[in-house]
Amino acid sequence: MATNKKVTRVSGDSSATDGSRPAFVPTAEAKGQAGKFRIYGIILWILAVVAEVIAMLILFKKDPEIALSTGNRVLLIAILLVDLVLLIVGSSFWKKANRFDPASKQNAPKFFFQNQLGVVVAVTAFLPVVILAFIKKEYLVGAIAALFMVGGGAASADYNAPSQEEYAAQTSEVEALTGGNFVYWTKSGSKFHLYNDCRYINTSKTTEIFEGSVADARKEKNITELCSACKSKVMKEKGITDEQLQQAESAAQNALEKSKETETPSSKE
Ligand SMILES: [Zn+2]
Repeated sequence: MATNKKVTRVSGDSSATDGSRPAFVPTAEAKGQAGKFRIYGIILWILAVVAEVIAMLILFKKDPEIALSTGNRVLLIAILLVDLVLLIVGSSFWKKANRFDPASKQNAPKFFFQNQLGVVVAVTAFLPVVILAFIKKEYLVGAIAALFMVGGGAASADYNAPSQEEYAAQTSEVEALTGGNFVYWTKSGSKFHLYNDCRYINTSKTTEIFEGSVADARKEKNITELCSACKSKVMKEKGITDEQLQQAESAAQNALEKSKETETPSSKE
């Protein structure tokens, strides 16, 4: 492996395991980062609801039979726009936090709630004002708020929700292929690579290549896909067959399930 590009090491997960890695466990540092992003997200979401409350106070005072002045209507729409921006930025922090500290699919309700909490907040931050606007016969404001609720909800949903199981499966695939947990990616790429001189990342456009674990690629760039050229190259080089790879992956999967079975709630810190 040789590249003349700048290789930036993202983290220090250099411990190659023997393939019997238990469930994915985020590092203390990743948990700390996730906690910070969650707090940012929650603060922005609270401010979004505050913006909604201000908009509702304006509507409360309004007589349903008397139309709002143009100035007040513009002010209301501006406040709703602030509400929308706070919601979407808050949700992006929340989604980033989940990539640092993903939920487990084993607890389906928690998995869904943790990943799609932004949608719940979108409804909270807009539905009351939508209803109030229609009660007060401010139909234009109500329609815009409804549009923002749908758009904000769509932007807040996580369509590629990270799970501990997915991290563990992808990590064990990389470990089965390379014997370590090192992958490479670039700022603009959508796949992680096993070779830092892969022709897809070692191009003239690339100035910097990032190196880290599978989880790092997800944390930093939300990359979930392994480069197929790298995969077939390493399999050819090491003489790994599809069958052997599948066996290694299912062995890791079994080890994962075993570790889950023996896990008791009291063993969690
Ligand atoms: Zn590649």
